Amino acid sequence: ASVWAKVPQGPPDAILGITEAYKADSHPEKINLGVGAYRDDKGKPYVLPSVRSAEKKVVDAALNKEYAGITGVPEFTKAAARLAYGSDSPVIQEDRVAVTQSISGTGALRIGGAFLERFYPGGKTIYIPTPSWANHNAVFKDSGLRVEKYRYYNKDTIGLDFEGMVEDIKNMPKGSIVLLHACAHNPTGVDPTEDQWRSISDAVKEGGHYPFFDMAYQGFASGDTAKDAFALRHFISEGHRPCLAQSFAKNMGLYGERVGAFSIVCESTEEKKRIDSQIKILVRPLYSNPPVHGARIASEILNDSALNQQWLGEVKGMADRIIKMRALLKENLEKLGSKHDWSHITSQIGMFAYTGLTAEQMDKLAKEYSVYATKDGRISVAGITSDNVRRLAEAIYKVKG
Ligand code: PLP
Repeated sequence: ASVWAKVPQGPPDAILGITEAYKADSHPEKINLGVGAYRDDKGKPYVLPSVRSAEKKVVDAALNKEYAGITGVPEFTKAAARLAYGSDSPVIQEDRVAVTQSISGTGALRIGGAFLERFYPGGKTIYIPTPSWANHNAVFKDSGLRVEKYRYYNKDTIGLDFEGMVEDIKNMPKGSIVLLHACAHNPTGVDPTEDQWRSISDAVKEGGHYPFFDMAYQGFASGDTAKDAFALRHFISEGHRPCLAQSFAKNMGLYGERVGAFSIVCESTEEKKRIDSQIKILVRPLYSNPPVHGARIASEILNDSALNQQWLGEVKGMADRIIKMRALLKENLEKLGSKHDWSHITSQIGMFAYTGLTAEQMDKLAKEYSVYATKDGRISVAGITSDNVRRLAEAIYKVKG
C-alpha cells in the first residue's frame, strides 16, 4: 500500500468552492460576491497607481536580490509601525515596539500565535469573536493555542451584541488573550463605535487580559488610516500593551505580494530588544526571512511623502466606492418596495456586508439568479458595481422580499 493510503480527503475551501461554481455558470450577468478582494467599478482587479509608481521606482533602482534580515526590510517595518500606532505615539517615540515583517496578515497572526504559545505567561487560550474570519481558528490552533469564542454578532439586530461581548470579556479567566478586529470586522462588517471601544478597553483592562489586534483593513474601512486605527491607539492610550497583525493586502492591493507586519508593544527599549531576539529565533526555522519585493514597494509608498499622499487618496477612493455601493444596494432594495429594514447594509463597514439572508436564501440566489456568495449571508461589497447593483437588488428582493 502507498505510504499515504490513510490520508483522508479533506473538505474543499468554502470560498474556493464558490469561485468554482461561479466559473462553471454560463449566465452572462452572473455576479461573484464571494472573493475578499477589491474590484473596480467594472468588476476588475485593481492595481493602485501609487503601487505601479512605487514598483517602477523599485525596479529602476536595480537593487540586488540579497536576503533581507530575519525580521525583513527595516525601512518597511519602521514605517508600518508608524502607520499603525501613529508617528507621535509614545510607543514609537520611546522606541518600544518590536516589529517584524511577515507573510501578509496571515503570517503576522501565525507569528503572534507562535510567540504567545512559547512565551505568554498566562493561560494559552485565545478568544475570538463569533463569528470571525474563517482562518483565525485554524491559524491559532496550528500555533498551539486553544481557541475559544466570545459573543459579537447579534443576528436579530444584524448588529453588534455589545452587552454579550463585554459580559463575555469580563467572564474570561483573568489574563486571557483576546483577539480583536481593529476595524472592518470580517465577516460581518459590524464594528463597535468609538464609545463602545472605550468600554471594551475597560473590560479588557478589568480582566487583566492581553489584547491581540488584527488590523487587515487600515484605511480601507473609513478611507482614513488614523480613524481606522482608533481602537488600537485608544487601547495604547489606556495603558494596554497589545500585539498587532498588519496586512497590506487590502489597503495597498498587494494581495499576492504577501506584505505584512507583526508587532508587540513593549514596556521599554530593553524589553523590545529581548522580544526582537526571540522573534528572530522563532522566524528563522519557519522561513528564514521574508520576501523583499512587496516590502520594498510598500516602503516606497510609506516613506516617500508624495507617493504617500497619492496612496492615501487611492485608499479613500476604494473605501468610498464601497460605501457608495452599499448605499446603492439599499436604495435599490427600497425602490423595489422591500419592507425589510436594510439600514445595516450602510451602517456596516469595510469589504463585507452581512445581509441577514439564510443559507437557503443564499442557495436560491446562486441557483436561480447566478449570484454567488458564502452561505452565512456574507457578500463582498467589492464585487458590486454600478452595472450589476440593480440586478443584485432584484435577486435579493425576490429571494427575501
Ligand atoms: N485578518 C482578517 C480579518 C482578514 O479578513 C484577512 C484577509 O481576508 C487577513 C487577516 C489576512 O489576509 P492576508 O494574509 O492576505 O493579509
